[in-house]
Amino acid sequence: MTFEDLHLNKNILRAIEELGYQAPTPIQEKVIPLVLAEKDLIGCAQTGTGKTAAFAMPIIHYLHKIGNTKKAKKAKVLIITPTRELAGQIADNFTAYAKYTNVTHITIYGGMSIKPQIEQLKKGADVIIGTPGRLLDLYKQKQLDLDSLHYLVIDEADLMLDMGFIDDVKKLIQLTPSNRQTLLFSATMPLPVRELAHEFLQKPEYVAVDAISSSAKTVKQHVYFVEKSDKKKLLYHIIRNQKLTDVLVFTRTKTGADSVVESLKKNGINAESFHGDKSQTARQEALDSFKNKETKVLVATDIAARGIDIDNLPCVINFDLPNIPETFVHRIGRTGRAGNEGIAISFCDKSEKTYWDTIVKFTRTQPKVVSEHPYPWKEDVKTGQKKTGETSDQPKKDYRNKNKSRKSEASKKKKKRWY
Ligand code: AMP
Repeated sequence: MTFEDLHLNKNILRAIEELGYQAPTPIQEKVIPLVLAEKDLIGCAQTGTGKTAAFAMPIIHYLHKIGNTKKAKKAKVLIITPTRELAGQIADNFTAYAKYTNVTHITIYGGMSIKPQIEQLKKGADVIIGTPGRLLDLYKQKQLDLDSLHYLVIDEADLMLDMGFIDDVKKLIQLTPSNRQTLLFSATMPLPVRELAHEFLQKPEYVAVDAISSSAKTVKQHVYFVEKSDKKKLLYHIIRNQKLTDVLVFTRTKTGADSVVESLKKNGINAESFHGDKSQTARQEALDSFKNKETKVLVATDIAARGIDIDNLPCVINFDLPNIPETFVHRIGRTGRAGNEGIAISFCDKSEKTYWDTIVKFTRTQPKVVSEHPYPWKEDVKTGQKKTGETSDQPKKDYRNKNKSRKSEASKKKKKRWY
């Protein structure tokens, strides 16, 4: 499925294309049509599944369609979320997807001066993203007008419960018009969250997606922060030193695949490329030779690799990182199957660091950073950037950590449907 298939407005599609998203994630495929069909919805999904976009995109679509008045806007959307950090993340999503629309948003959270938030509310915005306590404060001060609300989104409902916000959330819901459309998202479905959904949602659709990262957890993952220009040398170094055979290497482009093959061959390593510019016969030959171990290394692009039945490999190497996290999961899912040991090695150059950060977030794994290798990132003289990206990959010690362990504990428990 493509984003076009979801019938989103072209201004949103343009923003999505710029972000490099190639296809909707499973939760987006399910949730976007339901939101557009004006259904109430319960989404059982963790952070990292693309759930923010799943509600943000159809909401922006609706707001763009109805257009806005020039005078102060009355909020059409209220998004309640437990933490300031999450409010910021949701706001970033809205900024990105609404880039080519006039849709506006503001964030409202505690722990900082209320005055600028009152000013923002006076100016008005289509979307208010906020934490429960501060939203209620502002309502009591008659600064928050929820009469024109069309959408109410309750994000991370189980976390709100854990943090003791559920009563505030209920009070807020009661301040919104009864004909609103309500979307509730939660990583787990404890009883109080189910009761909340039962009380305030009307004939909700239920959508659940597994954490996309399931296969990623069974594979040993290593990452090398390497300069782009040194990637081929590093590949050769690893294959030779670790005496690797049966290696599937992924590159982003067909020419990239050919050039990697050429450099390996120059160094005496038997390699073949596998991509769409090769004839069917040439591809079959490359595959046969890889399967019967004449070729040590097969270098493929994602699209070409999709149709091939080699998926029990000892090693997969991401020579280039994909810009879509699921592609990464599919790639590394070709190793570590059926109880076999599998290793996935990823190369990350400076320009790919944001892809890498998204992949780590998405897969909820902590790949081992291999810093002892001959081709680390060079010191960036202008910015004084460190040689490797190790430090920024360390988890921040904040509320999200608690959240993470809570979710992993929850995922260990046998999955139960809530209804
Ligand atoms: P979320 O689950 O909303 O926290 O999203 C996790 C990450 O996935 C965010 O960094 C998004 O920018 C990214 N993301 C969301 N949808 C897609 C998509 N369709 N393709 C690639 N990345 C996506």
